[in-house]
Parts: sequence; structure tokens; C-alpha cells
Amino acid sequence: MESLKPRICKFCEKSFKRERTLASHACEPKRRHADSVERYWQLAFRTYQKFYKYNYPTRTKDRTKDQFIKSQYYTGFIKFGRFLQTGLVLDHEKYIEYVIRNAIKLERWASDAVYDTYLKEHLFKETIDRAAERMMLYIMNWASDNEQLADNFFNELTSAKALTLIRNGTISPWIIYGTEQGEKIIDSMSDEQLDIAVNFINPKKWRPKVRMKQDEVKWLKNIFSNLIIQDELKEELNRKFDESHG
Ligand SMILES: [Zn+2]
Repeated sequence: MESLKPRICKFCEKSFKRERTLASHACEPKRRHADSVERYWQLAFRTYQKFYKYNYPTRTKDRTKDQFIKSQYYTGFIKFGRFLQTGLVLDHEKYIEYVIRNAIKLERWASDAVYDTYLKEHLFKETIDRAAERMMLYIMNWASDNEQLADNFFNELTSAKALTLIRNGTISPWIIYGTEQGEKIIDSMSDEQLDIAVNFINPKKWRPKVRMKQDEVKWLKNIFSNLIIQDELKEELNRKFDESHG
């Protein structure tokens, strides 16, 4: 026989007569605790902690999981966590700093308008080697996903796809104005596509910047005109691997 002592839900403090009813009972705080294993949840929680740390720097203790779950801003941070989880946000940490420092309202953190403004500033401040590294990584992943040579990347790139990559920051204006392939991308675009792209690769801002960094641009041009070498290097590594494991 079950004891008459009521069972209390530790999340909402509602009481139940039977263990079984308690176990199957669902409430919002219980659901929030269950969600805490998800990646978007973790991203949201870490952002929430950062937000409080920034705004209340004298408090030494971090905000806890329970405080987060009870927070009136819970849903807002969760929405932002999902936005981060899409993987489209370039440099999470910097973006979080950006929205907090600029005192942007939480409900706007996941908006395209706010993110686009950040992205443009971020790309403008970023060094040429970071921009090259990201592009190169993308090309290498593309090559292995499609079982193609890296050297084919720019030949296979449609202007529509290029526009998407410009808008999400994969193709930095450094690549557009600093490489022959970049100039070709611009040439291949329709007027309509160019109208959208210009927003992200503002030539008035970028051309003078690129002109001032001729040494770095030379280095960049060199890397991207030698994608074939990357392919040969990979073949060579594969061959060595086969030989030693064959
Ligand atoms: Zn409950």
C-alpha cells in the first residue's frame, strides 16, 4: 500500500497522491529542466550568465540554472540559443558581446537586421588571414563532401550560392576584392543579386582598405590561385597514408 504522504513535484511544488501521477505529471519548470541537456539550451544559459556578468560586474557568483529557469527572460534567451545553434552566426562570443554592449533589447538579438549590422562591422575589423582561413576551410569541406578537387570550387560556384555565402560571411569582402576569383563572382552576378551583395561588400568602404594592404592581398591572391597545390598536397598525404597502412 502506498503511503498517504503527498508527493511533491520539486519543480512546481504541486502535490500528488500517487507516485505514478507525479512521474507522468508535466509542468513548465520540469520541461525546462529536461531541456537543459540540449545544445540550444546550453548556449542560451551561457549567454544568460554572460549577460548578468556584464551588467552586474561586482557580483562574484554566476547565475544558476534554477535562476535561469525561473527568469522572466527565459523564453527570450532560449530563442537566442536556437538562433546561435543554427551555426550561421559568425564568432558567437563576439556577437554576444556586441548585443550586450550595445544594449540591444533581448527580443531583437535573433533578428536579421541586428545580426547583419554586426556581421558587416565584424568583417570590416577582421584580419585578412582569418577571412582566408574561413574561406579555405569551407572550400576543403566542400571538396571532401562533393568528392571534388578544391581547385574546382570557384568553377562550380553559382552566383546564387555565392550571394548566400557573402550574406553569411563565409565569403569576406577581402576575398571579393582581393582575389581574381572574387572579381569573377561580382562579374557573374545579376543586377538584382549585386544590389543585395553591395550591402555586405560596400565597395566605397572596402576598395580603399584593400588598396592599402597590397602585401597581404598579394599573399591572399597567391593562396587562392594555388588551390591546385592544396589538392596535390592532399593526394600526397592520402598516398602516404595508404602506403603505411596498406
Ligand atoms: Zn511540476
